[in-house]
Amino acid sequence: MDVKQTPDWLDRFPWPGAETHKHSRGRLGVVSGGPWATGAARLASRAGQRIGAGWVEVWAPEAAAPVLAPVLEAALLRPFGDAAELAEPAERLDAMVIGPALGRRPEHLAMVETVLAGAAALVLDADALSLFSQWPEALFDRLSPNDVLTPHLGEFDRLFPDLMGGGHRADLARRAAERAGCVVVLKGNQTVIASPDGRVEVSAPAPAWLATAGTGDVLAGMIGGLLAQKMDAFDAARAAVWIHAQAAGRFGPGLIAEDLPDLIPPVLGGLW
Ligand code: AMP
Ligand code: MG
Repeated sequence: MDVKQTPDWLDRFPWPGAETHKHSRGRLGVVSGGPWATGAARLASRAGQRIGAGWVEVWAPEAAAPVLAPVLEAALLRPFGDAAELAEPAERLDAMVIGPALGRRPEHLAMVETVLAGAAALVLDADALSLFSQWPEALFDRLSPNDVLTPHLGEFDRLFPDLMGGGHRADLARRAAERAGCVVVLKGNQTVIASPDGRVEVSAPAPAWLATAGTGDVLAGMIGGLLAQKMDAFDAARAAVWIHAQAAGRFGPGLIAEDLPDLIPPVLGGLW
């Protein structure tokens, strides 16, 4: 991959300007899992910050807050007790990310449902997708074209079992986006990004060092950070996938997810 091949979303990238302040740069909310599962929210929130969201809040179950407090930097920590408390940030913030390491119990489903009901734009990843595997239509009914689903093939299979085995991955993602009514990012070595209006992009092969725990959480935070900055969902997903792969390429062998968020700025620097 080469930065000289200018991506076509570049002229729509949300660069800050003289009139920008932290709230107008995009406010992102990330929902954390419980006390043993906070790493995903830490990674996603830092990725959202690094891709330019000006205000990032991590909403954490009360038991998880003491774990997150010492590791979050400029992200704000918001402990919550009941799923219903997520209605307020979902309404107030510009975009939400929910699912990474969330958990799959009924209270987690209630959290996802609350966020789905209120958020203007959201990224649903990981457990937020798997929670709906028994009733995918109940999820699709509540999605809008501003939303993004980021399944790997296993999560995709749980939501769209009848599409599996039905052709090239680009075709699967296109049909899934049409059915879900939102952008679908089918992750892999060559990630497919599909829009409900029929647009599809297959990304160039990404560095295989990305096949390690937590890199998907970083990607979810990056897409959320761009959605919060009001980038169109299809562009946000394509830009995030591209920058994610470029960042991984800058690190190379031995990459772990923790390395990725801080590699976003040098990639952005090459585009700016
Ligand atoms: P997840 O499956 O949620 O952990 O996300 C893994 C991330 O790594 C996604 O962005 C994938 O596209 C990427 N990824 C996984 N396996 C590979 C691979 N073999 N080559 C390149 N990228 C990969
Ligand atoms: Mg994942």
